[in-house]
Amino acid sequence: MNISELVRKNIKVLKPYSSARDEFEGEASVFLDANENPYPSEYNRYPDPHQKKLKAKIAALKSVKTDQVFIGNGSDEAIDLLFRAFCEPGSDEVIIPQPTYGMYSVSANINDVAIRSVNLTNDFDLDVDSILKLVTNKTKLLFLCTPNNPSGNLLSPEKVIQLIKVFPGLVIVDEAYIDFSSQPGFVPLLSQYNNLVVLQTLSKAWGLAGLRVGLAFASPEIIAILDKIKPPYNINTLSQSVALNALNEVNQKNAQVSEILAQRKILTTQLNNLPQVEHIYPSEANFVLVRIKNARQVYQTLIQKGVVVRDRSNVILCQDCLRITVGTPEENQHLITELQTL
Ligand SMILES: *Cc1c(COP(=O)(O)O)cnc(C)c1O
Repeated sequence: MNISELVRKNIKVLKPYSSARDEFEGEASVFLDANENPYPSEYNRYPDPHQKKLKAKIAALKSVKTDQVFIGNGSDEAIDLLFRAFCEPGSDEVIIPQPTYGMYSVSANINDVAIRSVNLTNDFDLDVDSILKLVTNKTKLLFLCTPNNPSGNLLSPEKVIQLIKVFPGLVIVDEAYIDFSSQPGFVPLLSQYNNLVVLQTLSKAWGLAGLRVGLAFASPEIIAILDKIKPPYNINTLSQSVALNALNEVNQKNAQVSEILAQRKILTTQLNNLPQVEHIYPSEANFVLVRIKNARQVYQTLIQKGVVVRDRSNVILCQDCLRITVGTPEENQHLITELQTL
């Protein structure tokens, strides 16, 4: 695909902001270029705008090149920048199969980009034909979330690949929950498809939601466009250094993921034993979507007892459903005990 034809014209010709730290490269001991306060503290200097160390670490971990990695202030920043780079406000369109993560639509609305919605199937998989029917010459992005939020299932990989092959714009595959799933995900396919963008995050399995570090993997051409339009210092010094250290602890992350998966199984069994629970959707993530009698009321009652879950009962295809995050053994037991006394 010709990516440069897909980019908005103003972005293509944009001359990016050149920060003090951009214009100087090399070794120096006296920095009088950025109007910083000279008195040393851990944070008196601006962060690395290119996040070189963090990108190198992530690239090694994911077996990609550093120029295939974009780091955002959460995945939400990457989502917003994709709209800003590729979608002409008031004119272009994106396709979002529902139900899914709400930020794609919010970002589309903020950027005044029309949303073509299409439902997933009853088991929350892709209906390829009905998606492709929505394509027009204004369609720029297609958002696929796998494992999907709020349903928890993986989209069938064959259908995702089919869409990547024929969709005339970028296909954004959001893998926020990939570390909890049984699949390798789509990062290994990046070299085959230059219209593929894979989103991941340190917010879920890596346990760093408070740091706001989101990742986008794509062809170097797409990454260069995102880097060109991002705020220069979008990842602060503290987030870069904490993320770098955390990424060295793969074993800890894997141990926590295993524990969460074991707890998901126990929680699912216990929920299934409750008379008011009607269905638990199969999950490849760290949450389960549960169809339960009087979901809205159950949600309110749980809140009164200090237990917060996510009410999805008003969401398309999720009538009477609550989305429950897998917590610690104690938290899950607490939830079950409260549900038993309803
Ligand atoms: C939680 C979540 C994210 C993570 O967003 P961050 O901004 O990186 O915290 C992204 N996509 C989906 C589908 C999510 O559920």
